Amino acid sequence: MEVERTRHGPFERLSFAFGTPTGRSQHSVYRLGDTLIDAGGTVATAELLALLRERPPRRIVCTHQHEDHVGNIAAIRRAFGDLPVYVPRQHVPIVTTTARIPEYRAVYWGHPEPSGPVEPYDPGAVFEDSSVALEAVLTPGHTPHHITFVARDGAASYALTGDLYTSRPLEGWFESAADDMVASLRRVAARAPDLVVLPTHGRIKPDGARVLSDMADWIDREAERIHEAAERLATRDPRALAAAVYAELGPDIADLGSGGEISRAGFVRSILAPNRGLPVDPP
Ligand SMILES: [Zn+2]
Repeated sequence: MEVERTRHGPFERLSFAFGTPTGRSQHSVYRLGDTLIDAGGTVATAELLALLRERPPRRIVCTHQHEDHVGNIAAIRRAFGDLPVYVPRQHVPIVTTTARIPEYRAVYWGHPEPSGPVEPYDPGAVFEDSSVALEAVLTPGHTPHHITFVARDGAASYALTGDLYTSRPLEGWFESAADDMVASLRRVAARAPDLVVLPTHGRIKPDGARVLSDMADWIDREAERIHEAAERLATRDPRALAAAVYAELGPDIADLGSGGEISRAGFVRSILAPNRGLPVDPP
């Protein structure tokens, strides 16, 4: 396990990475004073607890319900006491009960542990620590009710974007909604021209507003291609359209490996039939 600890203004990033047979697993949690933003996956429980031990957190706030963001809540409470945990309201039933995920995901993030009791929060909630206010901004698209935390510190602005991806994957997640994603990317980008984006996965983006806007433009362009193809081929079937529009990319490995949870057909579906509520049944 590669562990990396870096400082970004008032935030500290704790990042965990390792190779898997099918690719690299990397995720991170952030810390602002005594507040942990997301709790990480159980693939890195021991490493995370070791980093937190010298100054245990007193509160956890989570961006969304997925296992790489909430998996260690129970372990952190066992290690450091029953600290308060805040989760988006609609994600509470998932976070408090989920103990198993599909194996292809467990290889990357580990099976989560049910969290124990958590406090629901809503968009607009503000969590203060170290004289910095974390504001919960609704950013659905990756999953319904996903939250981005935005903060100002002096002249600097930050966005803890969770899984508000900017990596342009043509493989869509089964809970996703492309138009919501575009609106969320633009909403966060509009916060400040010099926004620093602190994502869960991937590199820090000092030019965050531009990166978020570029991603929104890219999704809009792909959506236009998909809508045109749907018209031309007279079908709205995501598999048929994905095969036609992305034919040059060859077989959809992600689709095969994830049982359809992550696929090009899923990306097409996110454009033609966006998911806006939970739970979403796996394909
Ligand atoms: Zn996620």
